Amino acid sequence: MRKLLPLLAGILAVTVVAVRAQAALDIYFMDTEGGQATLFVLPSGQSMLVDAGFANNAERVAGIVKQAGVTMLDYMVITHYHGDHVGGVPELANRLPIRNFVDHGGYTVELQPNRVTGYAAYQPVRARGRAIVPKPGDSIPLEGLDVQVVTASGGVIKTRMAGAPGAGQPNPLCRDAKLKTPDPTPENQESIGLVVRYGAFRMLDLADLTWNMEHQLVCPNNLIGTFDVFHTTRHGDNNSGAPQLVHAIRARVTMMNNGEKKGGQPEYWQIARDAPGLEDLWQLHRSEAGGAAHNSPDQFLANVNETDHGYSLKMSVKTDGSFTMTNGRTGFSKSYGRPQVSSR
Ligand SMILES: [Zn+2]
Repeated sequence: MRKLLPLLAGILAVTVVAVRAQAALDIYFMDTEGGQATLFVLPSGQSMLVDAGFANNAERVAGIVKQAGVTMLDYMVITHYHGDHVGGVPELANRLPIRNFVDHGGYTVELQPNRVTGYAAYQPVRARGRAIVPKPGDSIPLEGLDVQVVTASGGVIKTRMAGAPGAGQPNPLCRDAKLKTPDPTPENQESIGLVVRYGAFRMLDLADLTWNMEHQLVCPNNLIGTFDVFHTTRHGDNNSGAPQLVHAIRARVTMMNNGEKKGGQPEYWQIARDAPGLEDLWQLHRSEAGGAAHNSPDQFLANVNETDHGYSLKMSVKTDGSFTMTNGRTGFSKSYGRPQVSSR
């Protein structure tokens, strides 16, 4: 027995190390019919939800959060005050405790009666909780997850991200880069944009940031570097998706948060598909506008027609940078290995 005990202790220690090494960050890309709701759950149980879709998505979002084992949200990030992002927040806050709200501030740049609804409904909820208003360059303090804010309140970071692979390099795609006329819905420019790092894994989510502001992040120098995963800007709408950014970040996987009839535009889809280094383009919906030529194969689509609603894509990420994506409709899953340092 005296000999057996150290042996047992050794086996136990190895098991604990193995469990720790395999501890995964889970990311749920929820279907909100062309809005956004992305849940991050850490091995520690800490959680962050980025947006909560439209007002009528709150029940669905709350259900997925609870299925993920989350009983209280540590951080609720509201990227901006359009109804497809903030709409679900008030009702979600009725269903689930939320510790911290992160937003671009207590104002909106769109005060037209038909556009202000989501902002107005959120203000009393925000007043009941703790609001954090980050500036570009700030981070959101989750334990074990590095969440950096790169855009907020119409501003972008001005210097390269420290420690980001490829950051600070001149971007040759800027030479022929095009700009677009300013977006007619300026609240999008206020979007909080996030870089999420988990060990060697990096993901970019710029919410509904506009084309010309994407340009500022990567021209003349790429300030944000390269990524494993790109969450598309503005649901795959042509007011965003500047190739000087989408092609410079070299994502291995892109996740498009389009609805059947919202976002998912053929031009954006093609820019994303043509990105150097891209392995797969996953979509939350088949895009009606995309037709046969501008949609990914069925297995990469969470929802394929108007009778499909609410299937998520779930990503499990390990600290070595490898990750697996699973289609909630079919169960199909695909694993992506550790990032190749040379391609960075
Ligand atoms: Zn949106």
